[in-house]
Order: sequence, then structure tokens, then C-alpha cells
Amino acid sequence: MSQVRTRFAPSPTGFIHLGNIRSALYPWAFARANNGVFILRIEDTDEERSSQAAVDVILEGMQWLGLNHDEGPFYQMQRMDRYKEVVRQMLDQGLVYPCYMSSAELDALRERQMAAKEKPRYDGTWRPEPGKTLPPVPAGVKPVLRFKNPQGGSVVWDDKVKGRIEISNDELDDLVIARPAAADSDEIIGTPTYNFCVVVDDMDMGITHVIRGDDHVNNTPRQINILRALGQEPPIYAHLPTVLNEQGEKMSKRHGAKPVTQYRDEGYLADAIVNYLARLGWSHGDDEIFSRAQLIEWFNLDHLGRSASQFDEAKLRWVAQQHMKTAADAMLAGLVRGQFAARGVSLPAALDDGRLAAMCALFKDRCSTTVELADWLGMYVADVIPPAQELAEKLTDAVKPAVAAFARRLADAAWEAPAINQALKDTLAEFKLKMPQLAIPVRLLVCGRAQTPSVDAVLALFERSVVLARLAA
Ligand code: GLU
Repeated sequence: MSQVRTRFAPSPTGFIHLGNIRSALYPWAFARANNGVFILRIEDTDEERSSQAAVDVILEGMQWLGLNHDEGPFYQMQRMDRYKEVVRQMLDQGLVYPCYMSSAELDALRERQMAAKEKPRYDGTWRPEPGKTLPPVPAGVKPVLRFKNPQGGSVVWDDKVKGRIEISNDELDDLVIARPAAADSDEIIGTPTYNFCVVVDDMDMGITHVIRGDDHVNNTPRQINILRALGQEPPIYAHLPTVLNEQGEKMSKRHGAKPVTQYRDEGYLADAIVNYLARLGWSHGDDEIFSRAQLIEWFNLDHLGRSASQFDEAKLRWVAQQHMKTAADAMLAGLVRGQFAARGVSLPAALDDGRLAAMCALFKDRCSTTVELADWLGMYVADVIPPAQELAEKLTDAVKPAVAAFARRLADAAWEAPAINQALKDTLAEFKLKMPQLAIPVRLLVCGRAQTPSVDAVLALFERSVVLARLAA
């Protein structure tokens, strides 16, 4: 088999969300799984709706998720000359013809067809045929160019998701592939249309597998016919079912979908998002949690889901938590530093990477995101305010002397968890208290909260002087 070449071809209209970027993940993973090439192509021909800001979110989102492309980004607006060149070639070969039907005539045709309960379609008035006399060319009118769709027979492909699809050519009218040229130009070829640009790109870029949303499935038979007219064998197609939001609507910005980069800002790990999106429409047995390397090892087009998948925030958070648990502490430390920087919190100079990584190791199990992790580690980098009512309940007059005795022991103890634990136990024995009676007020005073991982381990990561000062207060 020739080298696998896949592409992601987003339209930069609106900010790319998780549902859209899944259409980047699959062709990327398929290319990586097969030592292939992954191409990024920006379909920016809708000039009114396309924006640089939307392109930026695509590029940033893909970079964040590690969906790196090997070729591109190619911008369709920069390839217009090439599309026109192919139109011209097809015109010369008689594969394309000018059509002068005005929009008023088209409307009238459509109305007649609807009244007769027929499917509205172009009727081939201007399609040249041997022995046919075409109407006289109206003066001063620039034509559209239409593709001579094959008549009779059908277009068939084996879709990797939907199975065999067969569309009769009688269903397809002659597609407009170029709009009228400007009235004052000598040109006959105006702006090429969307479906045509896609065909030329897929041909020029040597795409072997088109993996895209199933909102394009209706375009496929037309694209295949044009490709064949250009002497190309069509690629393999996989049309991915829609991603629905939690309310069961098609995921869209209009329905509140967040831009991909917002998940980065909310502190999700890129590998967790990749894992979650991979499972949203593809499976490898019962595996729910996997690494990027495993995804690349396993990904194929044979286990794509056939039905729409639904976004589930709770599941995303669960997947994210599993990735936090196994994430490298040094990497988490770097991300947490970034979180504090974003909050404008400067870290104590004494807080080196090693200790920050140890803090991450202690707290990461409880977190789905690095934002939550930074929230936990806040106790180490800024003063805490113990919740007054809870403190009043737990730090009773009976317990206060025990806290003071614990503080005295800590002043002399070796500053490590086992010695801190010994100091705790000795204090409990001395005052005949149970662990929570002492550990909870200590946590409230030092950490500002009653629940933490094991108190000796938590304290050991503070500076001794900070713990003593908070206990003394
Ligand atoms: N630009 C199209 C979109 O964003 C994708 C076209 C394609 O993949 O062929 O929906």
C-alpha cells in the first residue's frame, strides 16, 4: 500500500470545539499509526465568516494537544490560481461547461419542480450534448461553470464508518464549480466553489484517507465524480458521526461548546483530552484509559463507532483524574508553576522544582486538573485563613494545650514525615486524644482546611517556620 496521507481541513469560522477537533485527532492518529503523513489545510474560502482569531485557536489547540502536522498549514485562499488552472483544464477537456441560466430562471425551474413534487435540480439546459442546440448566449451575462456529472450508473464507496454507500448519478445534478467572473473582466472563470477546491486539494495533496464529519457525506459522491473526471482514484472515506452535547444537541458554539483552548486554560492535561476524544467514537476493546503511545499503537479505522457520541463532562473529569494520577510529577510542577503565574502569585524562592514536584505527587490523586492542583498547593505559597466556625468547634480549650505541645515537639523534630508522625503520636499519648482530635485542628490552622492527605506528609512539605508560625497563631 502507498504511504498513508491524511488531512484535517477545518473552516476557521467560529472557535474550534472538542467535537470539531476530534476530526483532527483521528486522521492524526491514523497517520501516526501507519507511519504516514498528516496535513493541515485551512478552508478559509468563506471570507465573511473566516477569521484569523479562529485560525489561531485551531493552531494553538492542535499544538497543545500535540496533533502536530507534517505538511501545511495550506490556506485555500492562497491556492485560488491553482483551482482556476484545474477549472481551465477541465473546460478545455469538455468536462465543464458554461451555464447562463439566471437566478430568476433557476428559481422558476425550482418552483415548477416543487409543484410537480420533483426534487429540485438543475435540468441541464446548457449542458452540451452531441446534436443538441444550446439556447442563444445572453448578452452581458457571465456564466457559472458546471461539472458534467456522469449520467446513469451510480457512485459507490465503502465507507469505513457507514459501510457501503451507493448514490445513483440521477440524484446528482451538474454541480457549479466556479461562480461567474466579475462582469467587467475578460475572464470566464470566477471563484471556484467549495466542493471543487476540496477535490483539487485532496488530489494535489495525495490524500489516501479522508476522515471527516458525516455532515460532508452528501458531498462525497460529487467529489468522487470530479476526482474520477480528473483521472484520480478516490481515497478511502470515513465519515464520523456527530458529537452531541450533554443536552443531546449537535455540539456547536451556538449551543455553548467551549473553544478547545479553554480546556487547556482550565488545567486539563492534553493527554487526557486526547484519550477522552479518542474514546468518543472509537474503541479498543474495553480500554478506557490509555496513553498517547498506546493510542498510536492501536488506532485503526475498523473500530469507529457508527452512532453519534455524546459529550459527558463527568466522564471527561474521570478520565482527566486518571491521567493526573499517573502524570509525571516534574511535568505537573511545570504546569502548576504556569497556573500560579497566570494568577499573579509568585512562589517563595525556597520552593524549588523538587519540592513542588513532591507536592504535586502528594495531591495529584485528588485532582482532575492542574487548576485544582494549584488550588490545593495554595496553602504552601500564601497565607491561609482557617474557617472560623469549624476552628472554634475543633480547637477546643481541651485541645489547645495539645496543639502547643505538638508545636514544641516539631521545633526539635527532624523535618521529615516519620519524625513528624512520631511527634503527633507522642502528643496523642500524652493528652490521651484520638488522631482526628489533634490532626483536624492542626490541619485547619496550617492548611486552612480539615481534609488533606496524611497530615505528616502534608506538614513535611512546608517550611518548618511556617508550620510553627501558623500553629502559634
Ligand atoms: N472544512 C470542512 C469543515 O470544517 C471540512 C471539509 C473536509 O474535511 O472535507 O467542516
